[in-house]
Amino acid sequence: MALQCRPIVATFIQQSDDPKVQIVKGYGLRAYACNPLMAGDKLFGTLSFASRSRDEFDPSELDFFQTLCRYAAAAFERRRLVAGLREADRKKDEFLATLAHELRNPLAPIRNAVEFLRMKGPQQPDLENIRDMIDRQVRQMTRLVDDLLDVSRISRGKISLQKQRVSLSLIVSNAVEACRPMLESQGHTLEVALPPEPLYLEGDTTRLTQVFVNLFNNAAKYTPAGGHVWLTVERQGSDVVVRVKDDGSGIPATMLTRIFEMFVQVDRSLERTTGGLGIGLTLVQKIVDMHGGRIEAHSEGPGKGSEFVVRLPLTVGAGAETGGGHPVSYVTPLRILIVDDNRDAADSLAMMLRLKGHEVYTAYDGIQAVETANSLRPDVALLDIGMPRLNGYEAARRIRTQPWAKAVVLVALTGWGQEEDKRLAEEAGFNSHFTKPVDTVALESLLAGVGAVRKAERLEEPAR
Ligand code: ADP
Repeated sequence: MALQCRPIVATFIQQSDDPKVQIVKGYGLRAYACNPLMAGDKLFGTLSFASRSRDEFDPSELDFFQTLCRYAAAAFERRRLVAGLREADRKKDEFLATLAHELRNPLAPIRNAVEFLRMKGPQQPDLENIRDMIDRQVRQMTRLVDDLLDVSRISRGKISLQKQRVSLSLIVSNAVEACRPMLESQGHTLEVALPPEPLYLEGDTTRLTQVFVNLFNNAAKYTPAGGHVWLTVERQGSDVVVRVKDDGSGIPATMLTRIFEMFVQVDRSLERTTGGLGIGLTLVQKIVDMHGGRIEAHSEGPGKGSEFVVRLPLTVGAGAETGGGHPVSYVTPLRILIVDDNRDAADSLAMMLRLKGHEVYTAYDGIQAVETANSLRPDVALLDIGMPRLNGYEAARRIRTQPWAKAVVLVALTGWGQEEDKRLAEEAGFNSHFTKPVDTVALESLLAGVGAVRKAERLEEPAR
């Protein structure tokens, strides 16, 4: 009865053969009333009244017991709520200490930078270094402030999503690009395994990107320099499962679910500052949840690395992606050569195009460009113009003269978009001309066009 949240009343127990009252009968009880203790509609206990001198209670007594039980339940519930509030208050105090500490950290270098800039005399400060330092520190502060704004949005339930059909590869490649500087500065190796098929979901591109940016940043942050980070995307029925794994500091078993709570960090000591506030995973879980997905953390323990597994439902059916200005990111896979003497520029563009499903190679000067093009015979070659050994115009001319290279699409990448540059590029045999930094939307649409032509050619091949 108590389990059904109603009072039980037993009377004339000593005369009763009912098996249910035999235990209380053994205690010599004659009347017995058991009342449920409720918090809302949840039962959390019972409170019983019994008499050894009377065989029954009158209705006003039963009423009185129930009133007592309601008061007892309310007092108990209040104690539980107060304990919860105290705990939340303690966490908030701890959080404020962390926040103050994390916000102060970037201030010292910025203050020093101002002092450097004030310096007069023969020793001129290295302006470029100072500018980069301020840039890094301001970025870090901006990130903290953004997180803070998100905390208040989470607490007020004010996170809203702008859902549309998006490609998972676009989200993941955005996140990889955003985290690349952090991963590289720590000397981590990132390995990416994506499925060949395009996967679409109904989601908010910015918020979903934030999910993977947070997971990559954490993987980079909690892994000692020179570590490994793996990203695996896999379709499982109507879901996509994305795993972000690292071989870093790992997470103790007792913390695997707690780390998703607001302000919870495994190591809160201020000496072990990591530039975080313990908000990221709360936000990640919230966003995943709002997309109908779920996230789990796995780790075999401290020092054994961590894995975060995100499962999201896919959109059923195919169709064009409407990515708020983003083009369809899956085109027919192409073989692409990227040539730039700025290795970071070449490598990051290569990474982005690989994530879109292309087979991408890089070269870092003009001579290497011609050699690699001749051996790989790419569908598309993107060539920087100002390069050592052989400039991009000359490299394009040499590539174009090869018998295999009639159909190769050559794209010039230059720092200036003057008419003269375009004319020179055309003369050298380039099909297109892009100014740097490359407009990825325009580039993707060019590649989609080349892909469509290649696909048609491949379909025609057996008939020839
Ligand atoms: P923050 O990183 O700002 O502290 P998060 O909410 O992103 O906050 O993460 C909460 C805690 O979970 C971190 O403080 C850290 O202790 C732990 N954690 C998150 N990701 C990892 C990871 N990849 N490896 C080890 N610990 C992690």
